[in-house]
Amino acid sequence: MTLDILAISAHPDDVEAAAGGTILHHIALGKKVGLMDLTKAELSTRGNVPQRSAEAFEAAKVLGTHTRVQLDLPDGFFKADPESLLKIVTVIRQFQPEIILANATDDRHPDHQRAADMVVQATFLANLVKVVSYDDQGKVQPVWRTRAVYHYVQDRTLQPDLLVDITSYIDRKFEAIKAYKSQFYNPDCFDPETPISCPSYFEALRGRNAMLGRQIGVDYAEAFTVARAPGVRNLLDLL
Ligand SMILES: [Zn+2]
Repeated sequence: MTLDILAISAHPDDVEAAAGGTILHHIALGKKVGLMDLTKAELSTRGNVPQRSAEAFEAAKVLGTHTRVQLDLPDGFFKADPESLLKIVTVIRQFQPEIILANATDDRHPDHQRAADMVVQATFLANLVKVVSYDDQGKVQPVWRTRAVYHYVQDRTLQPDLLVDITSYIDRKFEAIKAYKSQFYNPDCFDPETPISCPSYFEALRGRNAMLGRQIGVDYAEAFTVARAPGVRNLLDLL
């Protein structure tokens, strides 16, 4: 199976909160979208790995993604060593995505920026013939050139390069986020509080999507940054 979009995150739940509406929109357009988590978020203050993994697959079901892959890079400590980069290269070559979504290039959680850098590196390496990786049958994978990497803006306010209208998908996006019962506000969870577990987080995130939407004349939008200026086929496609 190949994908149109592979959305990669350091931790399960990064991508739902920052780009869930964009994913829903492209799936509604008939595009194939898959998710890859670099870690299983074993350092999370709330919840545990089996619980977080079950929540991640539930969120993927709500979004309607075609697949969700979870690598086992060490949460909080992963780094751009050859072994870790090759794991990401292998998944990119497996799914041959046109577009990759990656973490924010600057954010509160230091894993996010490191993940953003590693995904850019792995995307480049995936297109080098002398970087050899193998599929699950032991066959050498062909190289793959991804068209573009877009970084979804997360907690920290960054100047966006691209805003995607998610007005029709805002409620469904929050349904996907709420699949992470251990992470976000849940009156039945008594684990220690975190910056994303207070009830005002949902309000803040919805407000941010609304503020971004205002910039392009729609109700809700999600923000992305890009390394190179995006090109369009015609100006009338732009809002
Ligand atoms: Zn995260």
